[in-house]
Parts: sequence; structure tokens; C-alpha cells
Amino acid sequence: MKLFDITGKVAIVTGGNGGIGLGMARGIASCGANIVISGRNADKAAGALESLRALGVKAEFVSADVTSKADCAHLIAQTEALFGRVDILVNNAGTSVRKPPEDLSEDDWHHVLNTNLTSAFLCSQVAYQAMLKVGGGKMINIGSMMSLFGAPFATAYAASKGGIVQMTRAMATAWAKDNIQVNAVLPGWIDTELTVRARQQVNGLHDSVEKRTPAGRWGVPPDMAGVAAFLATSASDFVTGTAIPVDGGFSIAM
Ligand code: NDP
Repeated sequence: MKLFDITGKVAIVTGGNGGIGLGMARGIASCGANIVISGRNADKAAGALESLRALGVKAEFVSADVTSKADCAHLIAQTEALFGRVDILVNNAGTSVRKPPEDLSEDDWHHVLNTNLTSAFLCSQVAYQAMLKVGGGKMINIGSMMSLFGAPFATAYAASKGGIVQMTRAMATAWAKDNIQVNAVLPGWIDTELTVRARQQVNGLHDSVEKRTPAGRWGVPPDMAGVAAFLATSASDFVTGTAIPVDGGFSIAM
């Protein structure tokens, strides 16, 4: 058995057109799976598709706003139409609104919860039906260090990412009988568009992350490829309901 060979399988990565999503999509593609990346920005997807196809797999972009239940259903159906099956779902699309809790509007709250948490619930629910048809699957949900810690600027974000871990555990217990493994990944601080904004908005963030991280650096999207390969392949068939930090040691440093 080739532990990391998923040639012929099909993965969906929400928000796979850049950042961590593309890093994970490349990890899964390097194990042989065909890839659907989704997001709202088709322009950004062009370069991402090129880099995935360069790995020798088929890759397509499906436009979807994951805050919409109809778009989540369309994403799964369109993937089946393009590639005939869905084996792997990475719920990666996410956003943040950085304000102290007293300044967060109700709209801010719902925007973050809908984008980061409800989206994962909706996509997983539809993907579950598709995975039943192929005898099992892998779901990978993206948490954060804010699944573990709090920060004054991250009330809605931390709530959404804490929720991701608990939703992962609950779904893992429900769907183990269907040969579906559901796991979460908790990235440390990774250099992406999201954290470029964070570093503009949060004073001293760049240096304080570097100082606290035992690896002595920020992560980059390729750092996320290996965990995606592990959780998307049969290497992780007896691993479910976990939340794996990929953080250069950030979460274990005093
Ligand atoms: P990016 O901003 O680079 O990527 C976010 C992606 O999500 C984009 O590709 C965007 O695509 C997509 N997206 C956002 N909103 C929607 C929506 N409503 N519908 C569909 N797609 C959407 O950030 P990261 O790569 O940093 O973040 C990816 C994930 O990793 C997020 O869940 C984030 O919370 C998490 N994370 C990031 C960390 C970091 O340090 N960078 C640390 C811990 C967790 P488009 O604009 O085309 O819609």
C-alpha cells in the first residue's frame, strides 16, 4: 500500500486560490489528487491553477461564496460534474475583523462566524453525501492559534476558530462509521494576505510572533503542505477528531 498516493481522488479546497489554502492544495496535489479550488476572486485563481497543474494533476476553479448555502451545494455538485467524485474537503476560507469586543458590530460578528464556521458546517454537510457515494473521505478544517488562545482583537475570530475544533470533534464521532475522518489543523502565524493586514493593524505583531516562535520565524504557505498530505491520504486513516498545530512551536512555548 502506498500511504501517500491518492491518484484519481478529488479534493476541494475552499479559499484555495491563495495563502494557506493554496499551500495545502499543493500538498494534496503532490500526492496525485485532482483539485478544485474555490473562492470569490477568479483573477487570483489563475496563478493558483497554473501552479497546481504544474504538479501533474487536473485543477479547476469553482466560484463560490461559502457564506451562501446554495453556493456550498453548487461547489460540491460542480466538483462531481467536473471530476465525478469528492473524496477530500478542506474548509479553509476565512476572514477576520480586528476590533476590541466593545466595538464589534452584530454584522461584524455574523460576517466572521458565517465565513469561518457556518461555511465549514454547510460545505461539510453537502460533502458528506458525496463522500458516502465513494465509501469514505477526509475533511480538514482550518482552525488557528485562536482556537487555543484569546486576543483582545479577536473576539469573533477566536469564537469561530474555537467552534471549528469542537465541530470537528462532533463530526468525527458522527461520521467515523462512514469511513470519513474529520480533523482540524491549527496554523501558527503564516505570511499571507490575511496576516499582512494583521501586521498593519496590530502594533508590534511581526516581531512579537517571531520572538515567541521557537522556530524563530513566521510560517509560509508551503509549511502547510505536509499536514494536508497526511490528513488527505490513507496515512491518517486511524486519525480523527484531532486538532494539529502547525506553528513552529508557538503553542508550546512559555
Ligand atoms: P487569505 O486571506 O490569503 O485567504 C483567505 C481565503 O479565503 C481567500 O482565498 C479568499 O478567497 C477565501 N474567502 C474568504 N471569504 C470567502 C467567502 N465568503 N467565500 C469563499 N471564499 C472566501 O488568508 P489565509 O491564507 O491566511 O487564511 C486561510 C485560512 O487560514 C483562514 O481560515 C484563516 O483564518 C486561517 N488561518 C490563517 C493564519 C495565518 O497566520 N495566515 C493562522 C491561522 C489560521 P476570495 O477572496 O477569492 O474569496
